[in-house]
Amino acid sequence: MHSGGPAGKGAPAMTFMHAVHECRADRRRGTSPLAATRAPAHNTPMPPAPALKDARALLKRVYGYDAFRGLQENVIADVLAGRDGLAVLPTGGGKSLCYQIPALLRQGCGIVVSPLIALMADQVDALKQVGVRAERLDSSMDFNTRNGALSAAGRGEMDLLYVSPEGLGTSLAERLADMNISLIAVDEAHCVSQWGHDFRPDYRALGRLKGLFPGVPRLAVTATADARTRADILAQLNLTDPSVHVASFDRPNLTLSAEPKVGNRTQRVVQLVKARAGSSGIVYAATRSAVEDVADALAKAGVPSLAYHAGLDAGIRAARQRQFLLEEGRVMCATVAFGMGVDKPDVRFVIHADPPKTLEAYWQEVGRAGRDGEPAEGVALYGPADMNRSLQWTYSSDAPDEVKRVQLTKTRQLFAFFNSDECRRGAVRRYFGEEKVDPCGVCDACRGELGASHDATRWAQMAVSAVLRCGQRIGRGRLVQHLLGEAKDDFDTELSKLSTFGIGKDLPRQGWNRVFDALMFEGLIAEGGEALRPVVIVPDAEEAKSLFRGERTVSLREDLEAPRRRSRNKGAARAAVMADLSARDQAVFDALRQWRTDLAKSRGVPPYVIFHDRTLAEIAREKPSSPEALREISGVGEKKAQAYACDVARIVAEAA
Ligand SMILES: [Zn+2]
Repeated sequence: MHSGGPAGKGAPAMTFMHAVHECRADRRRGTSPLAATRAPAHNTPMPPAPALKDARALLKRVYGYDAFRGLQENVIADVLAGRDGLAVLPTGGGKSLCYQIPALLRQGCGIVVSPLIALMADQVDALKQVGVRAERLDSSMDFNTRNGALSAAGRGEMDLLYVSPEGLGTSLAERLADMNISLIAVDEAHCVSQWGHDFRPDYRALGRLKGLFPGVPRLAVTATADARTRADILAQLNLTDPSVHVASFDRPNLTLSAEPKVGNRTQRVVQLVKARAGSSGIVYAATRSAVEDVADALAKAGVPSLAYHAGLDAGIRAARQRQFLLEEGRVMCATVAFGMGVDKPDVRFVIHADPPKTLEAYWQEVGRAGRDGEPAEGVALYGPADMNRSLQWTYSSDAPDEVKRVQLTKTRQLFAFFNSDECRRGAVRRYFGEEKVDPCGVCDACRGELGASHDATRWAQMAVSAVLRCGQRIGRGRLVQHLLGEAKDDFDTELSKLSTFGIGKDLPRQGWNRVFDALMFEGLIAEGGEALRPVVIVPDAEEAKSLFRGERTVSLREDLEAPRRRSRNKGAARAAVMADLSARDQAVFDALRQWRTDLAKSRGVPPYVIFHDRTLAEIAREKPSSPEALREISGVGEKKAQAYACDVARIVAEAA
């Protein structure tokens, strides 16, 4: 019979240092000092399994939050019960708490497999700030540091170890297998699947962890996985009777829009970025040279920007990534080489100067905006040439046919999504398998910014029959001439005998180009033949028939060629964080922000590792004058309350 019970019940409030001392007595069992919820070792030979109430107490004490969000609690309950699992939680949905908290509560050290050093470094930094004993083991660390971390883990003095999949080779895995391991988490688990967009062969080897660590629960987490990818993760990782949690893919704070590329794409990006001046953002472009172009154009326009792509030296890349994290209001221009594992909560916009590869990639990339839950935007530019490039790239790749087919479908789905006039967020959620999805109310489609939708089915039928009549062997330019009734050479003249010659005289050339774009996005036509002399083909005869029967319709936006100007108010997203602050509170907020900037600089960590904007805003409103009062603020845990209470009280008193 033990008298301790969960923290906070009948016991005096436990301070952080008390927790540390209690752990010392508890060391041989390898529990975390932060867990600190169970009775002393001498009267419980078998400690009780940690329960959800312990998880909630830990969430409050260490991280400073009152309640779990979304599915976190369900995932954590299953891991605490020792089950294998897969959790698909949206970006910003608090994936990492799902393994950090069970690792702190269960006996032994938690292992987190993570694909990128930057991701590990950020998480380890943030964990140390709240008093968690965490280290990473990666190739950039020297032998002594690695060995020290492993020895500490062996003595039960480490809560979490982060390792890369390639770092988890046989020798390390065997050394870890001799230790008390609380759980194994596989972060960015979609990398294990070749159906995903970030396939990493090293992830395939993680299936062997089942044999090396029998009885240790394994949790796969990711922000992006459709049904096929989810099934692949379960199979490849060899998860035993897994619990599967898939959260809604809704991101209510994201405002999405997409526009066709018209005129100078780079200048349009500059325009979009300048309308959001002062906010941190990411601009994705397809190639290294496009990245450099956009970064140069932004710099010329006076926007503090950085370029990032795989062609740059690793040291430069790391320095620029760091700069982006540390400084406020920077714009990162990058290829998709940038981003995975970049956990900057206050990115206010993601602009795709060129479209992403798939809808999964889109959702992951755009999901890097607004991780703090405050308003953020995603704007994508796209064009038919982008789609063709992507299709051609897949055709000519060495992938097996089955993989190619999936990739081709995904490309078509992506462009149909961009070109559609349905709610953006709703479309993504349906793509990931959600049902009964309500329109978001804020995207360009919901706000009616896409212009009137015009039924173009009649024109589409003409175009597709022309393609078929002409034998699927001529290019788009000649097809348009044919529809317009123009014959410029002998070959055209031969085709003029066909019934489709001149049937499209009523629509100008420009209009026909739009019809062909739309048909391409819808997958009703495709470009085949040689790359330099593409011919238009009809890839799916059944789909074409349903178009002729009128079962399938095609619609067009009237004013596609006119550049669309948006009336977005400047810095709208940024202002919203502090919208409800009075002038006096705003002054306190500004002073706190300055203090945070200085402190972060002196410690070499990003500002949000100290406190998020939202936490600063709540401090500015509540003006806590003691550690106890500071603890009441959401996002302030035990350690930060002790460390910063004096500073905060002084700044509040001075600025208020
Ligand atoms: Zn919408």
